[in-house]
Amino acid sequence: DLTDHSGLQQLLEDMIRDTAGEAEKGEVASYIPELARQEKHMLGISVCLVDGTLLSAGDANHSFTLQSISKIFSLMVALCEHGPDYVFQRVGKEPTGDPFNSIIKLETIKPHKPLNPMINAGAIAVAGMIPGASVEERLDKILQLLRKMSGNPDLRVNEKVYQSEKQTADRNRALAYFLKDSGILQGDVEETLDLYFRHCSIDMTTVEVARLAAVLAADGYDARSREQLFPREVARICKTFMITCGMYNASGEFAIDVGIPAKSGVAGGIMAAVPQRMGIGVFGPALDDKGNSVAGVKVLEKLSDRLDLSVF
Ligand code: GLU
Repeated sequence: DLTDHSGLQQLLEDMIRDTAGEAEKGEVASYIPELARQEKHMLGISVCLVDGTLLSAGDANHSFTLQSISKIFSLMVALCEHGPDYVFQRVGKEPTGDPFNSIIKLETIKPHKPLNPMINAGAIAVAGMIPGASVEERLDKILQLLRKMSGNPDLRVNEKVYQSEKQTADRNRALAYFLKDSGILQGDVEETLDLYFRHCSIDMTTVEVARLAAVLAADGYDARSREQLFPREVARICKTFMITCGMYNASGEFAIDVGIPAKSGVAGGIMAAVPQRMGIGVFGPALDDKGNSVAGVKVLEKLSDRLDLSVF
């Protein structure tokens, strides 16, 4: 019963307490040095009901970078700017069983376009579609959307993480130059990479992530501002990608065990949108071997079970 707010609050607190130990089974991401400094045992959750009611437990006020969660919002901007036909001529709609930064299918699959916008190659292709006179202007399109959806006008890039990521991004650079060679990326590759690193490095708390997810859950309608922030079709496309490719190469398993459209990031965040019911933000930096927050997945599994949230 979602109208019982104190019952729900108690449930969130119990779940955080009972699940925090799961972090032992994972490790924080180390390939971006600045992420390796995160404190492994943190765990926070926020739930934002579609009417705007917000509940949190644990480390819900701790900032972390969105990383791959941001791929949903760059995709939204590209879809709003160009429409689906343009976008899907350059990036596919199919899940891969490969890791998020895999390069192999870019060459072996024809036509040479990334399989979907949630893997790094696809997200870099999407970043290339975001128009603007400078990287700042292009980034601003994503930031404006995130600020409106989250209700926080101060959202910004974490400079340390951005620099750290930029300096250690050889794999992403390789993907981007391959895309340029295949004609998928046009223009200045370094600028598009810069945009990609920056949108991955936007700082947020679970409170804000839950609010973003609540707007997605409500098909683009924001209960707080009473505005339709983007077309319903855009929300539908994003939520579908969250189900089919949102949890890296564990998306199938997550769909069975949890059954909620969700997107994770390597900083340990997960954004989950339960259609017509709620948005959820979770943060726990210790990751499993697929790159998903170990404790975060566990909490979502328990919540889905207790509140019967699976869409299937
Ligand atoms: N910025 C990260 C990268 O490109 C995002 C990866 C992720 O969160 O999955 O490696």
